Amino acid sequence: MTKRSVLISGGGPAGLAAALLFDRLGWDEIVLAERRAGPSDFEKNKSFNYLVDKRSQRLFERLGILDRLPPVGVATREFTATTITPDGKAETKGVPIIDPGRPVCYWTTRRALLTMLYEAIGDLASERVRLLYGHKAAGLSRSEAGGLSVEVEDGEGRTETFEPTLVLACDGLNSAIRAGLSAMPGTDPARFEMIATPSLSTGLRYKVLNLPSRFATKGGAEVDDPAMSYILPSRHKERTKACALFAFPVADASHPRSVNMIREADHELWKLATADDLFAFLEDSFPQLAIRELVSREEAEDFVSLEAGAFPAPQYARELLASFGEGEQGAGARSHALLVGDAAHAFPPDLGLGVNSALQDVDRLAHHLEAESDLDSALTAYAGERLPEARDLCWLVTHVFPEQYNHRPWAMRRWIAGFMLRRGLNAVAPQVFARPGFFLTQDPDLTYGEMRAAIEQTDARLKMAGIGSLALGAAASALALRG
Ligand SMILES: Cc1cc2nc3c(=O)[nH]c(=O)nc-3n(C[C@H](O)[C@H](O)[C@H](O)COP(=O)(O)OP(=O)(O)OC[C@H]3O[C@@H](n4cnc5c(N)ncnc54)[C@H](O)[C@@H]3O)c2cc1C
Repeated sequence: MTKRSVLISGGGPAGLAAALLFDRLGWDEIVLAERRAGPSDFEKNKSFNYLVDKRSQRLFERLGILDRLPPVGVATREFTATTITPDGKAETKGVPIIDPGRPVCYWTTRRALLTMLYEAIGDLASERVRLLYGHKAAGLSRSEAGGLSVEVEDGEGRTETFEPTLVLACDGLNSAIRAGLSAMPGTDPARFEMIATPSLSTGLRYKVLNLPSRFATKGGAEVDDPAMSYILPSRHKERTKACALFAFPVADASHPRSVNMIREADHELWKLATADDLFAFLEDSFPQLAIRELVSREEAEDFVSLEAGAFPAPQYARELLASFGEGEQGAGARSHALLVGDAAHAFPPDLGLGVNSALQDVDRLAHHLEAESDLDSALTAYAGERLPEARDLCWLVTHVFPEQYNHRPWAMRRWIAGFMLRRGLNAVAPQVFARPGFFLTQDPDLTYGEMRAAIEQTDARLKMAGIGSLALGAAASALALRG
């Protein structure tokens, strides 16, 4: 039997899950190279909270690790939040933009999810899996045999070369494997370029601030329920001064509450140069908080010294698959490179579909590898399914809810009106008007193409209804004038 080996570049959610998958599929050699030093090596500006939905859970079920999710997550169906306003008043209410029929999702943190996957590999995977932390994929070229050769470099500059059957690019938005494919002699550089369409949230800057796991606000209201989301609005309303702190549920009650601060590039937050500037800004903005008790000087210094991240334009790669060399499938000479997760499609986190679509990619890859008898057909089927899905997913991110950061209050108000209108129309005539787009994206049983088609059809019908009402109105006025 021919030896099958996979080199996975990147140990994010997609890469770690893929390592488990290929081990379960019985591949002979599974090597994962991750440039960070370890799974919980904390990238401060990546302490995101993820809402892990059914799309990811399907993969975990397939991998036999679904029971590991509830201990590291907070189960949720709807979205309830406690708002503590600058005058110290607290109010808890449900936010009606979450589909009540949605299957249970789990709030967790990036760090907890990566640790869960890493531990699952340690407990369940065979010795065929090698996890190389502190190693980066540094170069891609054609092997002498005509297949692919990947150079992996450790922290000291030592390199090891792999000639795998499959190179899986799970190395995120700035994928080294995708760049290597584009730079390969004889390859059209445009073949793997990202096709980007900016959305209303593209370019927003973000940083993460860590607050204690539990604390009391000045008016006495407590931030003390790990399963609750908290919203702490500032007292300011001006676009370049206003901001709110969002603290999402945390499974580990001792874990800090990380809050994302997301604002436009010209916001005052990004001009703060010192820890004292940050303290002054926060104390002025959030009179409900005893800032100096909640934010240590070290945390404040970290915050100002870190460069703010920027939301990318929704984008997807023009192609997902490249095959090289001749020979039998699985033989050394024939090899493939496949883009998965953020390496294939990336966008702002508006719909909470980044990690879920990345893990869904791995789930669909598993499906095709199990369904097809040979690797070429499985990878071709995967790319044939996922490429249009990546395109439609980017369309959804651009169209469905980029207003949610409230950085353009008029756009948010228009969005709420559109959402309520579609929700109402869908309640009375579900055959004619689809659920609002934001509800559709929460439905794990629809493809992204089906969601897009439903939204476009409803929009077209609303337009027709609008034109019809205008025409009727004009006709009625004309008749009234004549009469
Ligand atoms: C501010 C922000 C908030 C977000 N919030 C959410 C959210 O609420 N919900 C959600 O679903 N998604 C969210 N996302 C998106 C989500 O984080 C990504 O979609 C998801 O992590 C993609 O997983 P991945 O495994 O494909 O890639 P990544 O998680 O990006 O992992 C790529 C890995 O590859 C490694 N790597 C990179 N280059 C190399 C190399 N040359 N060699 C070896 N290793 C390499 C990196 O260190 C990293 O560990 C958010 C993103 C941002 C920026």
